Amino acid sequence: MTHRLADVLEIDVPRNPLQQPAEVLRALYRQQGEKIRRKITRQGLWVAVFVHLLFSLTDILLIPDAAAITVVTRFVISAMMLASLELLVWRNAGADAIDRVSAAALVAAYAGWLFTALQTSNTEVMSYYMVFGAIFMMSVNLFFSFAFRLSLIASGVIVVLFIAGLYGLPTQGVGYKLTFGIFCISCFIFTSYVNWKLNQERFNVFLNALEAKAQQKEATERGQQLLRLSHTDPLTGLENRRAIDQRLRDLWDRWQHAGEAFAAILVDVDFFKRYNDCYGHQEGDRCLTIVADALRDLAEMRQATIGRYGGEEFIILAKLDEEAELAGLAEAIRQVVERLELRHEQRRDGISIVTVSVGAAFTRHHAAAKLEKVIYEADRALYASKAAGRNCVRLFDPNDPQTSDDREHVAAVLKIAVPQHLVSMVYQPLQDVGSGEVSAVESLMRLRMPDGGLIPPSLFIPIAERTGTILSLGQWAIQTVCHDVLAPNLMQIASVNVSPLQLRSPGFAAFVALTLHEAGITGDRLALEITEGQDMEMHSGACRCINDLKALGVKIWLDDFGTGFAGLSWLRLVEFDCVKIDKSFVHDSHTPRGRAMLEDIIRLVRNRQATILAEGVETPEQASLMKRLGIDLVQGYHLGRPMTASALKRSDRGATSARALSAL
Ligand code: GH3
Ligand code: MG
Ligand code: MG
Repeated sequence: MTHRLADVLEIDVPRNPLQQPAEVLRALYRQQGEKIRRKITRQGLWVAVFVHLLFSLTDILLIPDAAAITVVTRFVISAMMLASLELLVWRNAGADAIDRVSAAALVAAYAGWLFTALQTSNTEVMSYYMVFGAIFMMSVNLFFSFAFRLSLIASGVIVVLFIAGLYGLPTQGVGYKLTFGIFCISCFIFTSYVNWKLNQERFNVFLNALEAKAQQKEATERGQQLLRLSHTDPLTGLENRRAIDQRLRDLWDRWQHAGEAFAAILVDVDFFKRYNDCYGHQEGDRCLTIVADALRDLAEMRQATIGRYGGEEFIILAKLDEEAELAGLAEAIRQVVERLELRHEQRRDGISIVTVSVGAAFTRHHAAAKLEKVIYEADRALYASKAAGRNCVRLFDPNDPQTSDDREHVAAVLKIAVPQHLVSMVYQPLQDVGSGEVSAVESLMRLRMPDGGLIPPSLFIPIAERTGTILSLGQWAIQTVCHDVLAPNLMQIASVNVSPLQLRSPGFAAFVALTLHEAGITGDRLALEITEGQDMEMHSGACRCINDLKALGVKIWLDDFGTGFAGLSWLRLVEFDCVKIDKSFVHDSHTPRGRAMLEDIIRLVRNRQATILAEGVETPEQASLMKRLGIDLVQGYHLGRPMTASALKRSDRGATSARALSAL
């Protein structure tokens, strides 16, 4: 505790383990006042000597016969004592030594004066003049700031000298001697008491000041600690979002004013929700900490700043302005996490360790440059790296639609797509291989931008899913298909693609039932296609919804089978009425290996008693192969391109009956 106080005072205290705290405090007190005490005592002694010499005048006035010797004594003793004092100061002696010499000087000055003055023949005047001895006592006890013990000794000696002098006076009687003796002792007691009180007071003031200083230091430290805490992420110990935002602003200012470019790199752990689901939240936290440590080491090595930007997302800011350098750093980030080899066996994308996706962007000279733009662009790049399959790196490229601003426009357009008639439906025929008839269609959504440009579904569907607009678009799609194709009997069966989000949304089956009822059609004429390529979890809500839809008679088809990793699990869980084999298998069927794969898949699906549809049939050869392989239905450009409802109505096929497909 005392050494803490010494820290507060910023002085060195000798470390003696046997010393009591109170003693150490006293030592601290003396040590702290050292410099100032030396100065005050020195000044005080010079003043005292001056006054002492001034009293030579009273010697001349009151005891002229002894004045010569007293004055000479005054000067000699004063000179000797001042010389001793200055010698000590010159030799840098401590305040205690200076105090001792000063106290001794006062005693010597009094003794010198008293015993020379007693030589006077004017004993009566001298008997009054002697009372000035009290002034020496007062100056020892009150004028200087001597320690109590030193004051007591010095003033005690003065009392003894006084009393000795008093009794050396031949003329005065006992009454006089008693009176002056008692006066002198009273003075001694009184001034010593005041000296003791003063010393105590000084020490208390010192303690109070010490405490105030300690409190101030503690408050400052606490403030700094709080500031540190408010800028630190408690889990990983990295800087948090608030601190990173500040750093970003600083970097941005330097970019704006001094042209120092920088890059923002966003790092997101892949399939982390699944990691938590599989290993538990605590293990998830541990994983985040390990990843954060690895990233911190790398960032420190590259003189970059790192922070936790959100749940399982990190950000690295680096002063770079070369694309190759940035790409190198981003790749190093990806690799450093991969090399940790933290197991993550539930990802279902063939990888079984924790990986990260990385998106990076530079400060660029663009119109209306804003700080948010850099982060926005890094986010776009991250999005692109997720879309590219994760565990990869993407740099923002303004010319790449995957990372470009188009996404934001598309998201905005999707919100108004239905009321503004920017979304429409086209229908692609599905042909029965056995009979050659077409009586089913797949409905496909098309999105047009207000300027007329078409946006491919591969771009707008993921955005609609991410922003949630897929829910309203999906409802519109079902209503449109029922109204345009099924109600007027253009086709016996029409399929609509549905997103897992729709299946999970409450009341979806009820909505389908209501739509069918309003259109006056039976459930078995509507087929809903679920894409297995999507990261569709075995969501109990989705499974319940599928059962409800089946109860309505609605057909459930599995789309793009073979492209994702969830397909087999889905096949086990849901009884699909039809399975659509992805077009990539049809396209590869000209090679022996591709054909073998296709045959394997057909066998697998057939065992599930589902109708088999092959997508992407584009040539007569492919069509005849499908027939040979016993595929039930085919779809592709060879059989018909997607067309509008009115074109469908005009086409001959539109009138085809649906006998062959009614069994689907
Ligand atoms: P993606 O590959 O697309 O990034 O998929 P993802 O599952 O990683 O992404 P998503 O954003 O869906 O889920 C992020 C998960 O991170 C959800 C949340 O439970 C988890 N998470 C966020 N912060 C923490 C945390 O502090 N500790 C743990 N254990 N998990 C966290
Ligand atoms: Mg995330
Ligand atoms: Mg993630």
